[in-house]
Amino acid sequence: QNLKSTIYRGAILRIILLGAPGAGKGTQATFIKQHFNIPQISTGDMLRAAVKAGTPLGLEAKSFMDSGGLVPDAVIIGMVNERIKEADCANGFLFDGFPRTVAQAQALDKLLTLKKTDIAIVLALDVTEKELINRLLNRGKTSGRSDDTNEDVIKKRFTVYTNETSPVAD
Ligand code: AMP
Repeated sequence: QNLKSTIYRGAILRIILLGAPGAGKGTQATFIKQHFNIPQISTGDMLRAAVKAGTPLGLEAKSFMDSGGLVPDAVIIGMVNERIKEADCANGFLFDGFPRTVAQAQALDKLLTLKKTDIAIVLALDVTEKELINRLLNRGKTSGRSDDTNEDVIKKRFTVYTNETSPVAD
């Protein structure tokens, strides 16, 4: 409620949630999207749906996801560009898991500048690595996500986060 009264003030809410795998982006996104009535755009969820449906995009993404690496920027940017054109994004949206590289952030800047809009809020969730590993291994017991059950893949995702994603905050 505080967030709403101090920041919202009628602005179109375009929000980015930053944080390492397991930091709680998805959990907090659920609260935030209900509170502000805006759609959650989780690139991870979109990719998992594409993999499940066996689309060309899903086939291209699967090996990157299984190894804990990142899906190529061009694929992600194209997917997000299409998604934010949809009608439900007119009053704002919440990115969860995007942008994940500086190139994605720069591409997003360009897309939003073309639309003469901007990001209103960036929220960064900060959690220790020990706690993150515990959470991911626990999530792996119920999520059905193969990338949450293998500790090597989890570690790879942290390395990718440190090298590729944490610079996005700057
Ligand atoms: P997540 O559900 O956000 O943890 O994403 C699961 C996996 O999907 C990641 O480990 C990546 O392989 C891929 N992925 C999700 N979002 C992105 C993104 N913005 N850029 C590149 N790869 C992504």
